[in-house]
Amino acid sequence: MVLAQLGGSIARALQQMSNATIIDEKVLSDCLNEISRALLQADVQFKMVREMQLNIKRIVSFDELAAGHNKRRIIQKAIFDELCNMLDPGKPSYTPKKGKTSVVMFVGLQGSGKTTTCTKYAYYHQKKGWKPALVCADTFRAGAFDQLKQNATKAKIPFYGSYMESDPVKIAVEGVDTFKKENCDLLIIDTSGRHKQEAALFEEMRQVSEATKPDLVIFVMDSSIGQAAFDQAQAFRQNVPVGAVIVTKMDGHAKGGGALSAVAATKSPITFIGTGEHMDEFEVFDVKPFVSRLLGMGDWSGFMEKIHEVVPTDQQPELLQKLSEGTFTLRIMYEQFQNILNMGSLGQVFSMMPGFNAEFMPKGHEKESQARIKRFMTMMDSMTNEELDSSNPKLFNESRIMRIARGSGRSVGEVMEMVEEYKRLAKLWSKMKGLKIPKKGEMSALSRNMNA
Ligand code: GDP
Repeated sequence: MVLAQLGGSIARALQQMSNATIIDEKVLSDCLNEISRALLQADVQFKMVREMQLNIKRIVSFDELAAGHNKRRIIQKAIFDELCNMLDPGKPSYTPKKGKTSVVMFVGLQGSGKTTTCTKYAYYHQKKGWKPALVCADTFRAGAFDQLKQNATKAKIPFYGSYMESDPVKIAVEGVDTFKKENCDLLIIDTSGRHKQEAALFEEMRQVSEATKPDLVIFVMDSSIGQAAFDQAQAFRQNVPVGAVIVTKMDGHAKGGGALSAVAATKSPITFIGTGEHMDEFEVFDVKPFVSRLLGMGDWSGFMEKIHEVVPTDQQPELLQKLSEGTFTLRIMYEQFQNILNMGSLGQVFSMMPGFNAEFMPKGHEKESQARIKRFMTMMDSMTNEELDSSNPKLFNESRIMRIARGSGRSVGEVMEMVEEYKRLAKLWSKMKGLKIPKKGEMSALSRNMNA
């Protein structure tokens, strides 16, 4: 079972429980069995599923729950918290500090997405003002240096490597020394993911780690591997001090089991996830928003973060103000569509809004989505200021719809489709009403509020 289905199954089990007239032990038991089945199908280890069941039953003690307590809410919260606990080892990972040199070493099997992720990680930090640099210490795979060089050049990140030198330790040390002298503050070492023998791979990793003394070792794993991740992650951890996990290919056939197993095996948090092959398809991983999103509750903190990241600074205050008022006009929709088209990659802001992504721009259909957005914008170009600034969809009576259709050369049906889409987004938007607008960097507080 892939991750999206897992989320859907758990959400359905919770919904069924909510629909029951009386919540008793049997209803809870059925709900937990349904969730456990879904987790097992997503390749989560049996031991972890069993523990989750026991923990929830311990928290939701029917004897202790006085009548009148909102049992549904308590159970839902217990399940939500338990899913979060499975992904949270309880200790944060080392976080590089801007301006202070940090060495970060990437390890993981070949094909896991390690080299791609090294560049994404560097690019992400570069955008936030770091001075990253990449070192290719994979001398085993022919072409590894070329790949890193190509990625680094595209992202304008300095890199170091050699076609001649076969000793990865030597390259790693030279690379780190070079970039320290150049005052780079984030030195990223890509290591080999394959060897003639597994023992040789681990020995090499150990040597690179001892010679460069990384502040953080990141284990990169492919999200589609399921519970085999446990043994793999554990083997890496026994050889180098893994301190964080990055899970790649979350856009593909991601299974929940792999990510959960890697956290359990390394006792380290997932810090980022890879969501595509492109450089910017990389997201900070936060347990609570992730579980919210998985269960279809939306990721409001991610949404706000994206607004700060991609909406032009001068548009932000007004947009945030409108968000807190819950007012959504067609003009806002127009401006956001414009941002989406300008950015070239779709869905950055709106994709974080629950309910938007799957229907409006399913992955793999970016071209169609883009064409649809352009069509909508043409119709909006034929609207009056009153229509664009109104937040009342009832304004769109028959004669207005016909006028917009005539003016934009589109059919009445298409205009109605656009108005329906506007209504749907306005409904999602209205959920933000009354929200305290956080400043940059206050996002985790927001996510706590939303999930409390
Ligand atoms: P390495 O052998 O571990 O260094 O793996 P690479 O970085 O060469 O990646 C292997 C393949 O996975 C490449 O085709 C990458 O483009 C692809 N890849 C890496 N990360 C992601 C991701 O998050 N999503 C998708 N769809 N593909 C990815």
